[in-house]
Amino acid sequence: MILLPALNPSEWTGPTGNNTYLLPGNPSILIDAGVGHPDHVDAIARALDGSSLNLVLLTHGHKDHAAGVPALVARWPDVQVRGGAAGRLHDGDAFENPGVRLSALYTPGHAPDHFCFVDTQSRDIYCGDLARAGGTITIPASKGGNLREYLDSLRLIKAMNPPRLLPAHGVVIDHPQLVLDEYLAHRAQREEQVRAALSAGHTTPDEIVAWIYPRLSTALHAAARESVLAHLTKIREDDEMSEPL
Ligand SMILES: [Zn+2]
Repeated sequence: MILLPALNPSEWTGPTGNNTYLLPGNPSILIDAGVGHPDHVDAIARALDGSSLNLVLLTHGHKDHAAGVPALVARWPDVQVRGGAAGRLHDGDAFENPGVRLSALYTPGHAPDHFCFVDTQSRDIYCGDLARAGGTITIPASKGGNLREYLDSLRLIKAMNPPRLLPAHGVVIDHPQLVLDEYLAHRAQREEQVRAALSAGHTTPDEIVAWIYPRLSTALHAAARESVLAHLTKIREDDEMSEPL
């Protein structure tokens, strides 16, 4: 496996931008496309050492993972693309070359089309935007994110007890259980805060954000609002499910 940064640095994507992972061989497989930065495409070509890129697997359709597809198709016209807007990806789909065998794992929550790819030999998991070292994952509730599904996906990955998570942002996670436990605890704590805000009579996302984070900068307000909205949706779904029939 060769980690090739997509060279789209930002506050959200990290100092070298998204991670893409090249699995050389026949077929050669690239996990996530990046954004089509010419130096990234050149780095892929160099790592392939004259052979073609055969298959791109997208963890999901967000721009920073998928916008590079046209640049890859322009360079390698026969490349196949699965996942994201290209679709054609199903839970359990297998992909292999002489070096690796991957199994697609449907893990919605951060995005409705989110997949992880499990290396069935090492049991490492290419986890896309399910987790990242040293930070949390946003659940864009107004754009298809679903916190209840996200927590189910975290628990699914935790139960598989992978030795490593290979995320789309940040460094490789060598202690997945710790990170996943932290994520689950963080969300449980936030849910308690949102429920407390509701009990105190605050009902709109903006009121709840103001109550939970009284000194929040305006730059972070939109992200906090999405997070609160994701919790409100989950709380409503949970309450509907627990109502007697
Ligand atoms: Zn994403």
